[in-house]
Amino acid sequence: MTATPAWPPRSTPRLFVDDTLAEGRELLIAGGQAHYLATVMRCKIGDPVRVFDDRTGEWLALVSGLGKRDLTLGVSNRLRPRDAVPDLWLCFAPIKKGRIDLIAEKACELGAAVLQPVVTRRTIIDKVKTERLRANLIEAAEQCDRTALPELRDSVALARLLKDWPAGRRLYFADELGGEPLAEACRGQSGPSAILIGPEGGFDDEERSAIRALADAVPVTLGPRILRAETAAIAALSVWMAEAGDWGH
Ligand code: SAH
Repeated sequence: MTATPAWPPRSTPRLFVDDTLAEGRELLIAGGQAHYLATVMRCKIGDPVRVFDDRTGEWLALVSGLGKRDLTLGVSNRLRPRDAVPDLWLCFAPIKKGRIDLIAEKACELGAAVLQPVVTRRTIIDKVKTERLRANLIEAAEQCDRTALPELRDSVALARLLKDWPAGRRLYFADELGGEPLAEACRGQSGPSAILIGPEGGFDDEERSAIRALADAVPVTLGPRILRAETAAIAALSVWMAEAGDWGH
């Protein structure tokens, strides 16, 4: 059944499927996703579902079977390709549960391409719950009509991040002690970029010097008031998207 501007309706449920989609594929949906479709959305045989895989894009699928605890979808045609985002990484020190979830969700919505947790001296969280963060990204993408997820990388120590830094990628170092206004520093600089946000306790002097010693580092201020880490991440992403990302076009 070919899609038209009016069909499938905007209210059609959307699901992320972690498998490469293709025409004619039969998908077995189980667990929470099956509950959502069968019980919450009361899908019946033949009902449409929009599925996306963060690889090929978004496809139209039709409910082809309803089981007790699972259901099957028959993939028909592709509705749109995987959406593109600017080449921006968000590097951030893991912070407390709840607040780190906010960073992941908002970074997905705002279009970060990569999320890179960075362990610093004052980072109080030693283990990032990657699965939970990924679940937050997927939920944000499902709800915000996205067909791409940010790449969520494993945590890395700050020293390692700096040592392996890819030359040519500008690193906007959000330094609570001050720097260039971010908007000015990044205006029109649409090349590969990254933003670095510290933990609740900030960076210590040794870390600050090591970051500033990086050739690609651009120390920036996010204004005269100290922001919580999650606020700083959201604010910095927004300014970058407006000045150097794809908000202008
Ligand atoms: N406890 C520290 C602040 C840490 S805020 C202090 O009182 O100084 C957490 C992180 O958010 C900081 O490491 C920095 O990366 C970012 N940040 C917060 N406010 C900022 C500002 N006004 N300018 C630049 N970065 C800021």
